[in-house]
Amino acid sequence: MTTDYDVIVVGAGAAGLAATQTLVSVGLSVICIEASDRVGGRTHTDTSIFGVPFDMGAHWLHAEHANALKAPGLNLGLDLYPAPDNGMTSGLEDDAVLWDEVDEIQAAVTKAAQVDREAEEHSGNSTDRSLADIFVDKGPWSFTAAMTFALSLARDLPDTSLRDLDAWEGGDDWFCREGFGHLIARTATGLPIKLSTPVTDIKAKPDGIQVTTTNGKTSAQAVIVTASVGVLAEDVIRFDPPLDAERRSAFELITMGDYNHAGLVFQPGTLSVPSDTWLTYHLEPDSHGVARGGGFLCNVSGTGLTSFESSGSFSRDLQEMGPDSAIEHALETLTGFFGTSVKQNFIKGHATAWRKEPYVRGSYAGANPGGYTARTVLGCPHTERIHFAGEASHQSQQCSVSGAHLEGIRAARNVLTGHFKFSGVRTH
Ligand SMILES: Cc1cc2nc3c(=O)[nH]c(=O)nc-3n(C[C@H](O)[C@H](O)[C@H](O)COP(=O)(O)OP(=O)(O)OC[C@H]3O[C@@H](n4cnc5c(N)ncnc54)[C@H](O)[C@@H]3O)c2cc1C
Repeated sequence: MTTDYDVIVVGAGAAGLAATQTLVSVGLSVICIEASDRVGGRTHTDTSIFGVPFDMGAHWLHAEHANALKAPGLNLGLDLYPAPDNGMTSGLEDDAVLWDEVDEIQAAVTKAAQVDREAEEHSGNSTDRSLADIFVDKGPWSFTAAMTFALSLARDLPDTSLRDLDAWEGGDDWFCREGFGHLIARTATGLPIKLSTPVTDIKAKPDGIQVTTTNGKTSAQAVIVTASVGVLAEDVIRFDPPLDAERRSAFELITMGDYNHAGLVFQPGTLSVPSDTWLTYHLEPDSHGVARGGGFLCNVSGTGLTSFESSGSFSRDLQEMGPDSAIEHALETLTGFFGTSVKQNFIKGHATAWRKEPYVRGSYAGANPGGYTARTVLGCPHTERIHFAGEASHQSQQCSVSGAHLEGIRAARNVLTGHFKFSGVRTH
């Protein structure tokens, strides 16, 4: 079969761009096919809404010591800087009471994961549990402390796997003043990308792959699919041969959570806290054990933009209720902390709804208790020529841009060494 390309990459998010760059760097003919009209996927900086960079998706460069985008960002001359250590907790003069509880929960997670690892090694069976299972209510700030963990994994306590949480690479966070989405979009410069072209079918032929898009058919020797677990689980792309039962079960174990940003712009000086202050506040569980609140990143990079961040079922409910709900909730909450000037000085708001994005369908993929090993399944090839990459399959930087980027490189290397018999693959 004479094919149009050596490799087709489906999706121009962090994973797809890294895969494309890796393959292009060794001289292969590659096309990256993207459904939407822009690159970046879940890492997207908008400047049109507020006139200042608003990261609608990823904003934090987590675990800077291991973050694969830090060096490319610095090399591009972007203004990257450490997230200041200036968290505040509304309602607490000294928030050590909260952070002591956070440390205790961290220790309990580490211990429970270690016990489970040992049991698994001994018996071959994991009895991974949820964050809710080890939650101990010690006082008024216990639930808020537990939510700091569930918040970052975009889930409620009962849906958060301890082993998945324990695997998460810790460390200091950094920010990119121009926006993390801007950084990712800059890495796409010069790459062969076709936008506004949804892929509908991927079919294995005897000696190649046929990819059908809404704009026609094309072919390659191999394909790397980087669509989210949400997109794949809902069969937005049909595969021939069909995806096997093991991957289908993995979609039940590693599922898309909910995390959203509501950006709010105020007159300068309205929120009297330093740039990039992470503002926590007291959270209570409702009758279903769900926190009806989140956290605020105030005065983002010194601008008048503040980002309200919600997760889990509460975030899902806010999306269902419509874009104004998150903004109203955020304004009410901030008014409680800073007074009525918040509403008087409010200029504009915008809330994301990632669950409603047809080519994403959620925020990022977390493991249900017991499901963390399925990340390996998601990263395995479907056939010799059909490969997968994305945030969901990274083992220690799951749910992150850096993890997605590294997965893109891994899949590209597998294609090169396994299929094209390349050795000594260069990567950026
Ligand atoms: C609100 C929010 C906040 C976040 N915060 C952080 C953070 O602070 N730090 C961090 O590191 N991570 C964060 N994340 C997670 C991070 O954004 C993702 O892990 C990462 O961007 C995923 O990259 P990816 O390439 O795996 O997937 P995607 O970014 O989803 O890329 C996949 C691409 O495939 C395209 N696609 C899908 N289906 C098709 C099709 N049929 N045909 C063609 N193209 C298709 C999509 O349009 C998309 O562009 C956040 C995510 C969200 C939503």
